[in-house]
Amino acid sequence: MAEGAFTCHDCGRQFPIRKLKEHFEPSGEKIDLCPEDLDERMNKEQYVRGGPGKEKAAASYSKEAPQDAPYGLRAPPPGLRSGSGRR
Ligand SMILES: [Zn+2]
Repeated sequence: MAEGAFTCHDCGRQFPIRKLKEHFEPSGEKIDLCPEDLDERMNKEQYVRGGPGKEKAAASYSKEAPQDAPYGLRAPPPGLRSGSGRR
């Protein structure tokens, strides 16, 4: 089965999508990282919290990243907000 690939933001190498780690910057921008570079960032930033990802179920967030960053412009797609208390 064909598998997509992504390019790691930090090291520029390609990895299969299953290794993709989404990380959200303070600006709310999503960056794609390989597990290694995510670890590095987590060590550097000391404080990283988890949250929903855009392509993955889980992502990591910079301390200052907005909680709803996965939706890019800080607005969830239509139909998602009017729901069951998703905080
Ligand atoms: Zn990397």
